[in-house]
Amino acid sequence: MLESALPSPCYLMDQAKLKSNLMMLDELRRRTCCHILFAQKAFSSYPFYSMMARYLDGASACSAYEAQLAHLFFRGENHVFQTAYLPEEIGELVKICDHIVFNSPSQLMRYGNLARENGCAVGLRINPEYLSQQLDAFDPCAPYSRLGTTLAQLTPECRRMISGIHVHALYEQNSDALVRLTKAVIDKFGMLLPELEWINLGGGHHITREGYQIEKLEETISMLQKTFGLKVYLEPGEAIVWEAGYFITTVVDIIENGIPIAILDASAVCHAPDITELQYRPPLIGADKHGVLPFNYRLGGRSCLPEDIFGDYSFDHKLQIGERLVFRDMAINTVSKARMYTGMPMPAVAVREPDGDCRLLRSYHFSDYKNRF
Ligand SMILES: *Cc1c(COP(=O)(O)O)cnc(C)c1O
Repeated sequence: MLESALPSPCYLMDQAKLKSNLMMLDELRRRTCCHILFAQKAFSSYPFYSMMARYLDGASACSAYEAQLAHLFFRGENHVFQTAYLPEEIGELVKICDHIVFNSPSQLMRYGNLARENGCAVGLRINPEYLSQQLDAFDPCAPYSRLGTTLAQLTPECRRMISGIHVHALYEQNSDALVRLTKAVIDKFGMLLPELEWINLGGGHHITREGYQIEKLEETISMLQKTFGLKVYLEPGEAIVWEAGYFITTVVDIIENGIPIAILDASAVCHAPDITELQYRPPLIGADKHGVLPFNYRLGGRSCLPEDIFGDYSFDHKLQIGERLVFRDMAINTVSKARMYTGMPMPAVAVREPDGDCRLLRSYHFSDYKNRF
């Protein structure tokens, strides 16, 4: 069907952009012999998994459910890291996963042998105490972080149990941050590296974004391979689905309270929570930032929540009720984070094929809301 025939609100995934991101990562794998896994949390939309798996080495999960999803729908290696595993889920995980990464020495001691007996590669997430982010609350290496094992926490028994380490400390960053992170890892944990088989450099590498300096990433991979004989894994999430989705919405009311406000048929809080949680400002097709074009509007959601605001944008014309507004870069953390809080219906999910044809994948109804309880 034509894009204009899709329902509103609707998440629209762009197959061609997804594919071009994947091809770039596939070339990186081939050039450097590194292994690239898909970190699922930003886009756990499994109808796309079999297509994505053709370009990658496997998937990585941060929970038992994600590991199960990858086991069912993603070919290749299945890796899992979770802050703490439960006794009732570890038995299944060691059967369906190739790599199990533990967060703490005590989790490693509790379950490491079981994982090894089942043929899993066993790893430990380390905390190199290298700060890369603006806000401590979002930085896994901030003081008192519960994520990863610091050098001070590491014991000789841990060293004997593991074949690799995992470090995840970047978020939407360029390769200069990776170079500094790698230096911090070597400064703190360098004595471990010669006895290990692999290192997983986590996610947060914005590889597919314009301006990403891929040479420095390649140099880092090659240095770890040559100096320490390590197999190198990357597990990006956002970089794989970067710019690969749209969010179609419709203006359903226009009001005036000091400023013009357009109410959309969707909710920022429920359908694009990074907007209200992380101050994300998605680009909007045909619009610009506030104040650039002559007609300025605040775009608000139709939930009852005061904070339900998409943002302030400017347009070259007056908005009309019934007009469609399409946000860009809306594959990341949208479907996977969406909620039906306050009874907001879930947007439909559709895909645009490389030839431009659009196909509806899923719509939601009152029963989906009711069945959550
Ligand atoms: C979130 C996460 C990733 C993926 O991060 P992106 O920012 O999506 O690249 C990888 N590994 C772990 C452990 C994560 O928590």
